[in-house]
Amino acid sequence: MSVFNTVESGVNQFNENSEKIIIKIENLVKRFGKLEVLRGINLQVKKGETIVIIGPSGGGKSTLLRCINKLEEYQGGQIYLDGVDINEYDVNQLRARIGMVFQQFNLFPHMNVLDNLILAPTKVKNMPRDEAVKKAKVLLSRVGLLDKIEAYPEQLSGGQKQRVAIARALMMDPEIMLFDEPTSALDPELVGEVLDVMKNLARSGMTMLVVTHEMGFARDVADRIIFISEGVVEEEGPPDEILKNPKKQRTREFLRRIL
Ligand code: ADP
Ligand code: MG
Repeated sequence: MSVFNTVESGVNQFNENSEKIIIKIENLVKRFGKLEVLRGINLQVKKGETIVIIGPSGGGKSTLLRCINKLEEYQGGQIYLDGVDINEYDVNQLRARIGMVFQQFNLFPHMNVLDNLILAPTKVKNMPRDEAVKKAKVLLSRVGLLDKIEAYPEQLSGGQKQRVAIARALMMDPEIMLFDEPTSALDPELVGEVLDVMKNLARSGMTMLVVTHEMGFARDVADRIIFISEGVVEEEGPPDEILKNPKKQRTREFLRRIL
């Protein structure tokens, strides 16, 4: 629990915070032309939960995250953030509340690390530059990269780029973080440093949806694992259950291939 969450729940004597549903997805349907990629996804995420999403390539995991962040339109169903349909939010406000980290880092190559971090808060939130710089320094120390504040993305390793991308997303004080295979493009020896940052974030009380094949991470920090195949939630449960005793044949086959 972060200090912030502790203070917040202290105000509320019933501590309903920990049980609060922050994202609710009902019957989500997404098509690309005739191809139905999400075929009725249902999912509820509690505040502070870390959910790991697994499943075969092409099953719709990225599309699901992109719908939550309004990077994709969808054709059926609803997504609620804090009980409000996401279509009611201004898209910039929504993306400020839901940060996203991609496989391919997506840093602005012509900007140094500091400028990558302060761009969105100064533009979207009108944060004064000196305040943004101060915040950037705090977050860069948190991901262990304060000494790279003036570096350009091309001067960084993949692991460093991804840690900068996480710090950049945190600049907006998101309530939820979406990670789409954040370590898949990394050399194996750089995976750990990124997972460590994500573990700390999860332990600080951040609500996280993480698409990953890192089952060690899932075992350590996931509250639930969701197995998505062919556009539906095929199976879900705590890591112990899903990893040790999956009920569905498809889940078993998938795990056998990746473990
Ligand atoms: P996953 O992340 O689980 O590998 P995706 O969500 O990326 O799966 O893709 C699900 C399906 O949607 C795949 O068949 C993919 O080819 C298709 N798809 C994804 N993006 C597009 C797009 N922009 N246009 C057409 N088809 C797409
Ligand atoms: Mg994907």
